[in-house]
This record gives sequence, C-alpha cells and structure tokens, in this order.
Amino acid sequence: MQKFLGNNSNIMKQKNRALILNMIKDESGISRAELSKRTGLSRGGITPIINELLSMGLIVETGVSVTDSGRRPITLELNASGCHAIAVDWTRKNYTAAIVDFTGRIVTREQYWFVENDTLDHILNRLKETIGNLLYQSKAKRMAGIGVVAPGPLDIYTGVILSPSNFWGWLNIPIKQILEDTFHLPVFLDNNANAYALAEKNYGRGREYHNFIYMVVDEGIGAGIIIDDRLYRGKGGFGSEIGHISINMDGPKCECGNNGCIEVYATIPQIMRHVNNYAELGMPSSYLTGIRSHRLINWNDILYGLQIGDSVCLNIIRKEAVYLGNILVTLTNVFEPEAIFIGSDIASAGKHLLDPIKEYLHDRTVTKKIHKTDLFLSNLEHASLIGGAMLVIQNFIDRGSYDMI
Ligand SMILES: [Zn+2]
Repeated sequence: MQKFLGNNSNIMKQKNRALILNMIKDESGISRAELSKRTGLSRGGITPIINELLSMGLIVETGVSVTDSGRRPITLELNASGCHAIAVDWTRKNYTAAIVDFTGRIVTREQYWFVENDTLDHILNRLKETIGNLLYQSKAKRMAGIGVVAPGPLDIYTGVILSPSNFWGWLNIPIKQILEDTFHLPVFLDNNANAYALAEKNYGRGREYHNFIYMVVDEGIGAGIIIDDRLYRGKGGFGSEIGHISINMDGPKCECGNNGCIEVYATIPQIMRHVNNYAELGMPSSYLTGIRSHRLINWNDILYGLQIGDSVCLNIIRKEAVYLGNILVTLTNVFEPEAIFIGSDIASAGKHLLDPIKEYLHDRTVTKKIHKTDLFLSNLEHASLIGGAMLVIQNFIDRGSYDMI
C-alpha cells in the first residue's frame, strides 16, 4: 500500500482523503489507530480527515472493536446512503438499470426485455426514461455518476460500445456522451467480465485475494483480471480478451481474424449448436432426442439433463471443462493467480463443470507441485450491476474531493 505523508497542499489532502476512504471501503469496521498504522499518517493527521468525512456523511462510526491492549476504539464504515451510483447492465437480451448505494447494495432496479421490432433509438430513449424514473423515485442523495456495463468490444475511454457480436446489429453507440448530455453526471463504460471481477473483488470472495482471474462464459468468453488489487486493462482497455486465445491454429476462422479461438468452440450458443446438430443425427439420449423431436434444445435442458444424470449432457459439460481448463492452464502459467472465478451462465453447470476443470488445472499447470490455484464458481447476485456501480464509486473515492451534501 502506498503511503502519503501529510502536508497542507490541496493535492496531498485529496490523496490522503482518498487513501483513508478507500481503506474504510476495503476494511469495513477499521479503527482510527489501525488506519494510522496502515497509512503511515499520524493520529493528528488522521483526525481532521475522519471528522471531515463524518460531517460530509460519507462514513459513520459503528460499534467498538476489541484490541489486545484492552482499549475499545470506535470503528468506521462507509455510510450506505452517503453516496449512490446508477448502474446499467446492457446485455444482448435486455437492459437493467439500478440505483446502488455506497456499500454496493441495490436500492431499486428496473428491467426491460428487448422485442423484435426495437430500434436503437427506441432503446436509448427508453433507457433514459428508466434512469430518469429511478432518479426521481429514489431521491438518492449525492449521485456520483452512471456506470454502464455492455458486451465488448467497447472503448472505455471514449465510452463507445463498438461492435459486439449478436447485438441486434447495433454498432458504435456513444453511450457515455448520450447519457452525460442527458443527466449531466459522469458516465463510465466497461465490459461485463471486468464488472464481474470488480464486484467479486469488492463484495465477494475476491476480497481475500490480491491477484485473480474472473472468467465469464455466456454468449461470449471474456475475463476480468485483477493484479495487485486493481483491474488490469492493458493499453487501450482491450486487455484480457481471453475468448480469442486460439486452441487450434488450423481451426475455423473467428470473427476477430484469428483461427480456432476458444469462442468458436466453447460459448453457450456454440454448445447448443453442437448439441442440436448432433441430436438430429440421433444421439444416444432419449431425453434430448425427445426434446429435439419437437423443438430446439436449450441451455436449461442441458442443466436439467445434468440433474437427472443424462450421459450426453454430462459428456457435453465434461468436454466444455476441457476447453475451459485448457485456456485456464495457459492463463495460470502466464499470471500465476491466487484464484480463478468462473461466472455468468456457465456457472449454473455447478460441480459437473468445476470438478473436471479443477482436476485439469491441478494436473497441468507449471506450479502444480508448488501451490494450487483456488477455483470457484461465482455466485454473486446482480454482479454486473454491482460492478457497474463500482466503476462510479471507485472513481468518486479516488477523486479525494467531495462536496458537502
Ligand atoms: Zn477470435
């Protein structure tokens, strides 16, 4: 942790405020003495900053914590209602907008499912209306901004959703500019894998780790990579596109220009395409053949098949585990993470996916004899929305300059 020595300059004050507020966010219930120890700031230097944060309503004093010396200092936490963010999760099927409080809890949310004739203009107008309604109804104080989560590729710096695949043909959407012009609030944009990683890092089991990879598998395959407690973004925000790691250089062409990318084999639509084609040839599963005789097999059918022990469904997920295990071995060898989280739709396959991946990883990584990488299915509810809000809240805290309410 970087330490700042206190002095009277404004910039130093802002840095110290941000340092302390970040620490209270990361370690809810920390005491003044502990803050002083961790930051290297004197007790005398800490007191006015804490008083300021208390009077601004950004933190609250809570309970007591018992120390070895027997003293019982008052502890500090973020004030849930001290600051809010709007989060928007824009997927290929719907959008959800929510108001999220300073501690990452969803206060209220609204969802809209796209229908066949929806135009981009209609969706954008509807989204603006939804955000306006949320703001009006909640009357949340200190609204720090809007965090939008959308499928990539996107440009996080200009705030433009570029050209996601299967995104109703919508291209180059300047969502940051559109929402900033309407609401006069700072707007941030990022992809869902980064949002999931941020949510896990701040509110999930990811808090226990400084370095981890969060892999998302749904209509696409992506990752959010946390290095030294921060999201790794690369030069232009396009880092961690793990869906375009090739597992077969002679394989089918991917839309990125490479051949045999993992996305060509292991997204959920690819699994379903494979299963449905196979079913037409008459697979040895009366369960799946029965479904296929009157409609297409869907992902929920596979999940149910796992529950009832259908051998074809079990095999499909075992094969998927090999695909994902393959790239996770590569990523583990490159980054040596402490943990890997697997999230989004694929996580519903549960232990049928997790156990074989675990075995694969533990057999094949370079570090297998030195230490094992922890592996989890992520089960944070509304992780995209919480991650979207974190884009805003982290920026707000890091500014170090906070207005009175
Ligand atoms: Zn590719």
